[in-house]
Amino acid sequence: MRNYSALFASVLAISLGHTGYAQEGGRIVETPLELTIMSNTSRYAFDEDWPVEQKARELTGIHLVNLEDPELQKKSLEQHLADETLPDIVGAQNLKAFVNEYGPVGAFQGLSDLIDEHAPNIKRVLSDRPELRAAISAADGEIYYIPYLPDGKYGRGYFIRQDWLRNLGLEVPQTVQELETVLEAFRNQDPNGNGVQDEIPFFVRHWQEVMRLVTLWDGRSSGSDNRHDFYVEDGILKHPYFGEAYKTGVMNLADWYERGLIDQEVFTRKGRPREELLSENLGGMTHDWFPSTALFNRTLQDKIKGFEFQAIVPPETVSGKRVAEHRRTIVKPDGWAIGFNNKNPVETIKYFDFWFSEEGRRLSNFGIEGVQYTMVDGEPVFTDQFLSSEQAVNSQLWDIGAQIPVRGYYQDYEYEIQWSEASALSGMELYDQGDYLIDEFLGIALNEIEQSIFDRYWDRILDFMLDRQKAWITNERDIEEDWDDYVKTLDMLGFTKVMDMMNAAYRRQYG
Ligand code: CA
Repeated sequence: MRNYSALFASVLAISLGHTGYAQEGGRIVETPLELTIMSNTSRYAFDEDWPVEQKARELTGIHLVNLEDPELQKKSLEQHLADETLPDIVGAQNLKAFVNEYGPVGAFQGLSDLIDEHAPNIKRVLSDRPELRAAISAADGEIYYIPYLPDGKYGRGYFIRQDWLRNLGLEVPQTVQELETVLEAFRNQDPNGNGVQDEIPFFVRHWQEVMRLVTLWDGRSSGSDNRHDFYVEDGILKHPYFGEAYKTGVMNLADWYERGLIDQEVFTRKGRPREELLSENLGGMTHDWFPSTALFNRTLQDKIKGFEFQAIVPPETVSGKRVAEHRRTIVKPDGWAIGFNNKNPVETIKYFDFWFSEEGRRLSNFGIEGVQYTMVDGEPVFTDQFLSSEQAVNSQLWDIGAQIPVRGYYQDYEYEIQWSEASALSGMELYDQGDYLIDEFLGIALNEIEQSIFDRYWDRILDFMLDRQKAWITNERDIEEDWDDYVKTLDMLGFTKVMDMMNAAYRRQYG
């Protein structure tokens, strides 16, 4: 990796010379300016023909053009670095670690000063929410990418078959003990009424959501929207798969698994377990996203008489708390960055800022006025025609270039509220009333030495943790017998070293 700093400095000196375009009406340049972009994901590969992008061109004068093959993956991005052919803009999912590694050595332009001087909308968001600035900063304190900022608070919640509870004369479980009783009844008392003991009391779409249940014994399964992530407790960074509460939780889950309260195929199911188990009238309870899970109340109402799958508040843990561990993250590692040889960083940051303006935010969230939405009492409202399409709303929006995470943009949750099932909204309302969310770990930007420590140890540590976790839950191994060995092995694999390093980095970034 060569050092780009000198080159970048001269580029910046040149480009700062020709600024001063008025920004009224979103217009950034009078003569259209082309900037090259590449994105690293096939799902949201940048498309110049997106109606949303065309509108942005018209409004700003900035024309983003594809550098080349939209299927480019991370490896190609690294190749671009080596060949010094980075485009003006890189927009990507999971961009954060990459730019925070290569930004400080000069491959991407630092954005702090550019934001300060030319991006009033981004600047306002970052000063209103200082935790965002800390979360996106690199180890050198500089900002190298403009993120996609999700909106809304609630991610996954507990859903239960209310009609099954009624069939068995049971109440909504309020504690972990009551939950155990309910799951046992689901298992043994034929709530689906077919005379066969075929119910699967607790099932999940992704096996990691079974681990979420350790929170019922005051353990943790992740500190963020990412799986198996570190979490913060009393200002200290910890890992969930360590400590007594985790051990207790896993012991109990192994017991639930053995008694058939948890799906016996939880680690092996393929396909679409949630859809299959619900539509076959077999699944009793899950932990999953509010909107998509609530949707089954509509799609299955004709198929299963009385079908009612409703969110319930998190049952009280063994120590009497109610905890919703998962939330919509406040900032994604997705977004876009300015390559070192972009000759128009000022125009580029103004363009990035456009998407955080009222007009740009509306465009990136709702699409085109008069097509996807109309203005009603000063607010964008999706048209009935748009909402009544067979195609899912999200997918329709992606097709026109809205809600695209390779663009740094600021989501407006209102866009989702307008097409959420009433039962999803009332479920989230339940969680809101109780305030069950816990603080999120927003990640750390490691410096080169820290990163090398992490890379050297972490994969093996996590592999070992997950390997044991699965063996314990399925009772192939016994956690009580294993535990002392587990702790020793983790230390041998470098766990303590990594945690010490991570905590030092955490204090540097978050104080
Ligand atoms: Ca049955």
